[in-house]
Amino acid sequence: MKRINFSVFFLVLLFLFPSQNEEYFTQLRKQMVERQLKRRDITDPKVLDVMGKVKRHLFVSENLMGEAYADFPLPIGEGQTISQPYIVALMTQLLNVKPGEKVLEIGTGSGYQAAVLAELTDSVFTIEIKEKLAVSVEKRLKNLGYHNIKAKYDDGYYGWEEYAPFDAVIITAAANHIPPLLVKQLKEEGRLLLPLGSTRYWQTLTMGTKISGELKNIRHYTDVIFVPMTGEIQKR
Ligand code: SAH
Repeated sequence: MKRINFSVFFLVLLFLFPSQNEEYFTQLRKQMVERQLKRRDITDPKVLDVMGKVKRHLFVSENLMGEAYADFPLPIGEGQTISQPYIVALMTQLLNVKPGEKVLEIGTGSGYQAAVLAELTDSVFTIEIKEKLAVSVEKRLKNLGYHNIKAKYDDGYYGWEEYAPFDAVIITAAANHIPPLLVKQLKEEGRLLLPLGSTRYWQTLTMGTKISGELKNIRHYTDVIFVPMTGEIQKR
C-alpha cells in the first residue's frame, strides 16, 4: 500500500514538476558516483563522468525510477535485470573503450550499458535475444537520441558478422564458455569481457585479448551473478 502511494505521489510530482525531478535524479546520480563508485575501485575519470551523466532512471519502468541509483540490480521485465551501477561501471572501466572503437554488446536488456558505452565511442552494436525487450529498447534508445547505437533482436552467440571486426566485445549475461564466433569477430588486439562460469551459481568477470587469432592474456577479476545467456549456448 505504502509503495503504491509513493509511486502515485512520485508520478504526480513528475508530471507537475518535471525539471525539479531532473534535479532530484541528478543529485541521486552524484551520490551514486561518490558512494558506490569512487569509494570502491572505479578510478577512471571518463567512467565516473559518464556514470554521472547517463540518466539511468530512464532505463527502468516508472515505478522503479526512485530506486534507479540504488546499489543493486533492478528487474526490467521478462525475468531479466539491469546490473547494479557499480558492475556497469566496473565492466566499462575494464573494457576501456576509446573514441573511434567499434564495440559489440551481447544482452541489450534495458540499453543502459550500451548507452554508457555509446558516450565513450562512436559506434556501439548490441544484440538482445528476448523480442519484447529488443523492441522496447530500440524505441527507448531512439527517443533518447542514441543514434550511434545499432540494436537487433537475435541470438548474440553468433555475433554480428555484418559489422565485424570489433575492437571490443562485452557479454552482459552469464556464459559457461566463450562463444567462438565472438572471438572470430574481434580485431587483433581486441578485448572480450564476460561473466564466465556457472550459469546456475556465480561467474567471474573475465577478460582476454585476441592475439594471433586466439584469446590470450586471460585475466579474472571479481565474482558476479548475471542472468544466464540463453539460446544456442545452452545446447553446447
Ligand atoms: N546490459 C543490460 C543488462 C543485461 S541482462 C542492461 O544494461 O540493462 C542480460 C540480458 O541478456 C537479458 O536481457 C537477456 O535477455 C539477454 N540475453 C541472454 N542471452 C542472450 C543471447 N544469447 N543473445 C542476446 N541477448 C541475450
